[in-house]
Amino acid sequence: MFETFNILKRNGSQFIPDISSPTLPPIFRGRPIIEAKPCEENCRACEENCPTDAITRENQNVSLDLGKCVFCGDCQLLCPTDKIKFTNDYKIATNKRESLIVHEGENHSIVFDPDDVRNEIHSFFGQSLKLRQVSAGGDNADENELNACINVNFDMGRFGIDWVASPRHADGIVITGPITQNMAEPLQICYDAVPNPKIIILAGTHAISGGIFASSSALNRSFLDKYKIDLYVPGFPLHPLTFINGILNLIKAKSKS
Ligand code: SF4
Repeated sequence: MFETFNILKRNGSQFIPDISSPTLPPIFRGRPIIEAKPCEENCRACEENCPTDAITRENQNVSLDLGKCVFCGDCQLLCPTDKIKFTNDYKIATNKRESLIVHEGENHSIVFDPDDVRNEIHSFFGQSLKLRQVSAGGDNADENELNACINVNFDMGRFGIDWVASPRHADGIVITGPITQNMAEPLQICYDAVPNPKIIILAGTHAISGGIFASSSALNRSFLDKYKIDLYVPGFPLHPLTFINGILNLIKAKSKS
């Protein structure tokens, strides 16, 4: 028995005690900051080299859409004035699509709006949330990170949040991948099998916007036009801390309305 205690003491704590406070290394690309300063004359390097059209530049004002960004870092590397910098802020999940657009001169966290959360989400899922994951043409990058959410390190299960195998046992679906033609119908069948009330989470840039496949004729994203999306979790791939903190914001939020 003493040997067991010794092993536990040697190994220390395996989980992150406070999921909202870890600091990720500077190399991690999270929320960008676009400094308000003039671009070099005629330079459009960021816009022209972005693989997903995530950057828009209007009258010298640059904005970056995290729902389209695949976090390749090219815009930061190619900018001759060092105007764009990625921070290690991983709390970038939100319930409003427009909040994912970072504008020049702004330096604040990505806004989550509790007043836009349906009342039943807190009352039904505040203590327990079971999710069914649907990989709708994903490349296993986001799916791997979602798996990591339940390992001993991130331990999402301690908040009552867990994965289930059947949509019949789920409270909502988590979609990864750009939603291919082949996965459009299975996605709809899975969603229909989840009992009401239910939530939809888009996990990863490809689920949010199609990412690098956005213009592909092999996609069928019409599912997303039919329902309200409850949470957008950007990243390519997303980080487990982004996902877990986003879900906690969603299920703990109490709308005033
Ligand atoms: S980091 Fe994002 S915004 Fe910048 S070039 Fe890559 S995809 Fe585009």
